[in-house]
Amino acid sequence: MPRPLLATIHIAALRHNLARARQAAPDAQAWAVVKANAYGHGIERVFEGLRGADGFALLDLSEAERVRALGWRGPILLLEGAFEARDLELCSRLHLWHTVHCDEQIDMLALHKTHEPHRVFLKMNSGMNRLGFSPQRYRSAWTRLNALPQVDEISLITHFSDADGPKGIAAQMALFEEATRDLPGERSVSNSAATLRHAHDAAVKADWIRPGIAVYGSAPDFPEHTAAHWGLQPAMSLNAKIIAVQHIEVGDSVGYGSSFVADKPQRIGVVACGYADGYPRICPTGTPVLVDGVRGRTVGRVSMDMLTVDLTNLPYAGVGSTVTLWGKASEGTVLSIDEVAQAAGTVGYELMCALAQRVPVVVE
Ligand code: PLP
Repeated sequence: MPRPLLATIHIAALRHNLARARQAAPDAQAWAVVKANAYGHGIERVFEGLRGADGFALLDLSEAERVRALGWRGPILLLEGAFEARDLELCSRLHLWHTVHCDEQIDMLALHKTHEPHRVFLKMNSGMNRLGFSPQRYRSAWTRLNALPQVDEISLITHFSDADGPKGIAAQMALFEEATRDLPGERSVSNSAATLRHAHDAAVKADWIRPGIAVYGSAPDFPEHTAAHWGLQPAMSLNAKIIAVQHIEVGDSVGYGSSFVADKPQRIGVVACGYADGYPRICPTGTPVLVDGVRGRTVGRVSMDMLTVDLTNLPYAGVGSTVTLWGKASEGTVLSIDEVAQAAGTVGYELMCALAQRVPVVVE
């Protein structure tokens, strides 16, 4: 018997979430961002749900190869571009569009012998201070690229640092617009947060949006807004069964470190999911779960292969009951991954990406 733990990828939710992002920017084209193995969901598993996108954006050439192997003939954008000269050969062979964010990448392109000219996305560092040319240097980089026979089309791209927070996008957008004024080419500025939260701002609806987290059904700006607020549905559910029940008395503790001590008699359910499956060990007592679709909470420390939940007020739950760690219960109730991430002091992105290899996954 396999361990009773299963992740489910919901194709209909992926389709729905992509449509939701598109609805916010109806005139833009949409890249579905599938880097990091589709945020832990699996590129091959999400493909059916996201093939309605206009393109796929990702990092690794190996991931680009996997998308092409699925039969995708449309645009693929490498979000960090080429890391070394030979990557450009693969860009040519796989017809990849690639980001150019530094002088060294322009140098590589200038030396590249290509039969097919490249479409590049010239990245501006408008305030994130990770990748890209400063607004002051952007135009000269554009001019240099434009002079290369290896390049046939230059598009303009930047990335917001605070689309999900109080600072917003206005300052970065102003710098981007100022420095790109009069430059030809398609533009792309918006991640999920910008697309949904700043949908009133015409600038975010530029030619290409780049939603990632939203297509997987997590709110980019939780806890200010929930996924339900944005009309997003979880694309991944993680469900496990209760494999044992313990009855404890006042003063008894649960799990390693005795971090939880009962102040009343309690029933404790032991669930077949632990940190080796990707459930964060740091989640404290009180982290929400669904037990047979009903809201409950964890107690005690998460172990490698198990975690424990309070069944005291859930008298019908017992061995064999299903515990939803995040996502959708079969009863239809939903526990957002964002709530679990919040309990762990992190974001939904990290939990999705950390789903362990050993967890069996089905696509439905
Ligand atoms: N664009 C770029 C350049 C990114 O690095 C990312 C992800 O971090 C995205 C778009 C998608 O962001 P999100 O998942 O917040 O929508």
